[in-house]
Order: sequence, then structure tokens, then C-alpha cells
Amino acid sequence: MNLFRPEVQRLHGYVPGEQPQDAGWIKLNTNENPYPPAPKVIAAIQQAAEGRLNVYPDPLATRFRKVAAELFDVEPDMILPANGSDENLTILLRTFISPGELVAYPYPSYILYETLAEIQGGKFERVWLNTDWSWNDTRTQSVVKRSKLFFVPNPNSPSGNVWSDDELLKLQPEKGVLVIDEAYADFSEPHSRLHLLQQDGGNQRVITRTLSKSCSLAGIRFGFAIAQPELIAGMRKVKDSYNCNTLSLAAATAALEEQEWMRKNVRKIISTRNRLVTGMRSAGFNVVDSETNFVWATRDDGCSEIFEELKLRKILVRYMRFDGTMADETIEGLRITVGTDDEIDGFLSAMTEILGS
Ligand SMILES: *Cc1c(COP(=O)(O)O)cnc(C)c1O
Repeated sequence: MNLFRPEVQRLHGYVPGEQPQDAGWIKLNTNENPYPPAPKVIAAIQQAAEGRLNVYPDPLATRFRKVAAELFDVEPDMILPANGSDENLTILLRTFISPGELVAYPYPSYILYETLAEIQGGKFERVWLNTDWSWNDTRTQSVVKRSKLFFVPNPNSPSGNVWSDDELLKLQPEKGVLVIDEAYADFSEPHSRLHLLQQDGGNQRVITRTLSKSCSLAGIRFGFAIAQPELIAGMRKVKDSYNCNTLSLAAATAALEEQEWMRKNVRKIISTRNRLVTGMRSAGFNVVDSETNFVWATRDDGCSEIFEELKLRKILVRYMRFDGTMADETIEGLRITVGTDDEIDGFLSAMTEILGS
């Protein structure tokens, strides 16, 4: 007896990066921040835990939205908090996609968009990027025209590059919503494309942000969307009433108040990233200039054996393979999260050892 919805039956399911539960790993595979959150964030969680956990949290996250609104210079009604940015992606699908409607996104990028579209009963199309991570305009426009939702990570993953305002605006569906996924925007200049919400067509755009990467809170699960109040009001209708819990709301609010802590960690990560890029290039890898907390490295003779060798040494990076590009070639490479200086030193010396043997 098959009880599943056909959409679920067909689903392969998104496979997240490994989270080893034993100690001793250099973990560079899921773009977490190697530094802890600010002490005031820990204090806020402790205080909230000693408070009233027997009652439900504020369903509207009033205090968080006020702090976020001030920081981004928008109205609180333009903010929708969620249990991780991934929950906001799900909310976007449930808000805007009826069965059969088209979800599009650049490829290679964040495959989860595709999984979420399938769950919702929507269709999806991958828009193949050129090998230099630029857009092929003809190919792109034919898909944008038919899209109801167009997702674009900016900066992109796994490549780490950013696209300009002009390039992003070309992705705006005429009768649909452009979602700019800014999971890594704190690592890039400018830090956000918020101004695109205020321009013509801004009422058809949503920006999603996460506290998992730059704010060192992947374990807390917190993200938020920014859009014009009308869009946020519609999205709020489909969210769970209490999608953000008391502890995560306290942590997220404190984290946004500790901008200097986040900026300091971002600066450290960027300087370590520069060393990583230099080291990888001299080891013979092709490395894309990164505006994120990870780098994308490829080599002409492939990377899968190197990935396995690193794993034997308890160093975990992400091996990624994207099949069926326009050029009919396979794109495969290593996405390496920027860890601490010590972790990256360990990684680079293991790499030298592997390549020398
Ligand atoms: C990490 C990441 C997210 C998810 O963020 P969470 O808040 O941890 O759910 C979303 N989009 C992209 C492109 C990411 O890399």
C-alpha cells in the first residue's frame, strides 16, 4: 500500500553536509563560523531559560523585529523571522507556488530550492550558469519569463562570487517573486541588496538572511526575511504560529545587537580566507575569488580522491559534483569552509602531504 503523495514518493530528499558526532575533526564542510557567538548572546539565552519557558513565545517576535528593523533601516512589518533561513524558503514556496507553477534557480547553487519545489508540487528549472559563473542571458530570460519564484543566492554557493544589481534585476519574473538569498552577504561588499526592495518592482522581491553563518548561530536555527509589508503579511499567514522559540528569539535579538562582534569575526575569517586561497592556488587548484566564508576549488585531474584522503585524516570538506551542465561536462570540486587559522594550517599541510605522495 502506497500512502505517500506522489510528490513525496518521487522525492530524493535533500542531503545536508555530514555532522560527525565524535570529536577530533577539522570540520570545514557546512560553512559554519569557527568562532563562538558573542558572550551577550549566551547570557541572553541563559536569562531566557531562567524566565518563562512554560508559556509560548511571542508569535510576532516583536522585540526581534524592532531590533532588526532598526539595524536595516526598514519598518518592523518588513521583517519575518523563521526557524532558520531554510524555513523561510519553505514559507516562500507555500505562499507563492500552486501545483505546476515554476520555481527557477541558478545551477550550480543551492539544491534545496529544487527539493522544496518538488515537495510543494511545483515544477523547477535549473538555469545553467556559464563556466565563469556569469549568466547566459538568452537561456536565463526564457526561464525568468515563465517563473513564479526565482531564487538566487548572492553571494552564490558553492562558487562564492557575487552578482551586480543589474545582473540580479534581470532575474525578476514579471509575474512572480525574486528571492535574493543573502546567507553570506555579511562577508561581501555591499553587505545587502536591501535597496532593491525600495525601487520599482521592489514589491515583488524578498531578501532572506540567516544568523547561521556570520553570527555563529547555526545551532540555534534562526533566519529572517525582509520584504515590503504586503508580501510579509501574506507569508506570515502560512508560517507556524510559534515558529521561533523563546531561546532562539533571545539569542537572535542579542546577536543583532552585537554587530561589532560579528564584524570582528568576519574580518578574521576574510584574512584566513586570503591565506587559504593563496595556499590552494600554489597547490595547483583553480580557486574562484570568494566573497563568502568558503572557497570553491577545482582541479583538472579531479578532486574526489583528495576528498577521501582528507577524510581519512579527519578533515571534512564538501565534495560537490554537478552533472549535466550546458557544456555537457561535469563540474566537480571541493567547497572548503574557512575555519580558524589553525584549522586552515592543518588543512593546507594535509593537502601538501596528499599531493606529494
Ligand atoms: C546556509 C544556507 C542557508 C540556510 O540557512 P539556515 O538559516 O541555517 O537555514 C540558506 N541558503 C544558503 C545559500 C545557505 O548557504
